[in-house]
Amino acid sequence: MSDNKLTGDGPFSVCVYCGSRNGVRPGYRALALRLGTAIGQRGWQLVYGGGRAGLMGAVADATLAAGGTVVGVIPQSLMTLEVGHAGLTELHVVQTMHQRKQMMAERSHAFIAMPGGIGTFEELFEVWTWRHLNYHDRPLGLLDAEGYWAPMLQFLRHAAAEGFMGDDQMAMLHSDDQVDRLLDLLAAQAGDPGDDNFGKI
Ligand code: AMP
Repeated sequence: MSDNKLTGDGPFSVCVYCGSRNGVRPGYRALALRLGTAIGQRGWQLVYGGGRAGLMGAVADATLAAGGTVVGVIPQSLMTLEVGHAGLTELHVVQTMHQRKQMMAERSHAFIAMPGGIGTFEELFEVWTWRHLNYHDRPLGLLDAEGYWAPMLQFLRHAAAEGFMGDDQMAMLHSDDQVDRLLDLLAAQAGDPGDDNFGKI
């Protein structure tokens, strides 16, 4: 077992994947601030990629400002580029992207993807695939603003209709544009993480 596993002690921890850019519409950054504020006000913990740019920095700053704790996990290569956030509760510098994503997952009771680009997509699809393959049993949410995720959801329904995905896989991803409603749902669905299979990834 890795040292990073959830023990049942400590605050409820939500892993957030989101853009290292702000996007063109103000609604995206406003959503990041609402999410971070809600996590902090609940006394929960944010786990994220450790950056200070874009929506990543916004959600981290808002969580801290509202009294929550923030765990960042960043690879050495990005740290060298000085994109790391200096004011976090914990900042873990790891060697590889794979170590980073595994540690972020191990430290989290639930996962949320907010608007973002290819880095966000990659993280969302990986943790979703891990759930489907039974590496973990933790809930996943898509937090929307400005209808950002609608074209992707439409494509995913197309993939299901064409027989490349099952309805059970689609049902694993909860989509909402209301922060508190999504957080309540994920908290209700997150059981005791117990023993997972991250070590087998
Ligand atoms: P993207 O959606 O392409 O902007 O990538 C954002 C996701 O990839 C985040 O959730 C991070 O985990 C990772 N990432 C990409 N760029 C950075 C960066 N400059 N600093 C920290 N993490 C990053």
